[in-house]
Amino acid sequence: MNVTPSIETYKPDPQLLHERIILVTGAGAGIGRAAAKAFASHGATVVLLGRTTSKLEAVYDEITASGNPQPAIYPLDLLKASPDNFWELADRLEQEFGRLNGLLHNAALLGALSPIERYDLQTWAQVMHVNLHGPVVLTQACLPLMRKSEDASIVFTSSGVGRTGRAYWGAYAVSKFAVEGLTQVLADELESHPGLRVNSINPGAVQTTMRATAFPAEDPNTLPRPEDIMASYLFLMGPDSRDVQGQAIDAQRK
Ligand code: NAP
Repeated sequence: MNVTPSIETYKPDPQLLHERIILVTGAGAGIGRAAAKAFASHGATVVLLGRTTSKLEAVYDEITASGNPQPAIYPLDLLKASPDNFWELADRLEQEFGRLNGLLHNAALLGALSPIERYDLQTWAQVMHVNLHGPVVLTQACLPLMRKSEDASIVFTSSGVGRTGRAYWGAYAVSKFAVEGLTQVLADELESHPGLRVNSINPGAVQTTMRATAFPAEDPNTLPRPEDIMASYLFLMGPDSRDVQGQAIDAQRK
């Protein structure tokens, strides 16, 4: 479903995210990197979370070189993090900024492309951990802080294979179905909390390392770049989506 005003023509105000604090997971590469830069260029202070510090530092440098608000770096491997690590992160955000207006759950593992019958169970557990359990605990830890904000947005990242099952996509597809369900359940719970919303976004096919791994024979130049699909990310993080709750949004026209 597409409830954004018009993704192709949405023109966010240049200061759409002024003074907002937004946490982005998987911010060192691909769509997360583009989202972090887009949020910063619209005035947000972005907290860059990821597992490879050098990649986060490169995004930090790109944002500061553009003259946008100074971001923060938070190295964390979602596969190895304990629940305490997520609560420590939420405490740090509260101490440092006193608020959290946006949470983009973007990091994900592709895992194996394999029939369910032969799917390696360790890989299955890792994919479910990074793509589903990590975001659940991170959401639990951040919700108390986000509730304090008059306008806050949680965005989960789904996929086409999280809406229609496809052979060999295994744990990745199942985790994305679960993310869509999680979005709906949480949205129903937050219905009575004005301004705090949760939605999911399906980026569609985008030129990234994950896509190239899944489709090695595809010419990446036929795909949009991450920075080409940022309209709906900006829409969901900003005040224009204040009343949008529990929606599964497509970042690209089908
Ligand atoms: P990507 O290029 O592989 O980037 C994923 C990012 O997540 C990387 O920065 C990676 O860190 C980080 N990450 C992976 N495992 C992590 C962990 N354990 N802890 C912390 N960070 C971790 O993927 P992408 O294509 O940009 O995908 C972004 C999101 O869009 C994902 O949720 C994906 O499922 C979804 N999606 C993408 C497409 C597409 O066509 N690209 C289509 C549908 C959905 P490192 O850089 O350190 O590896």
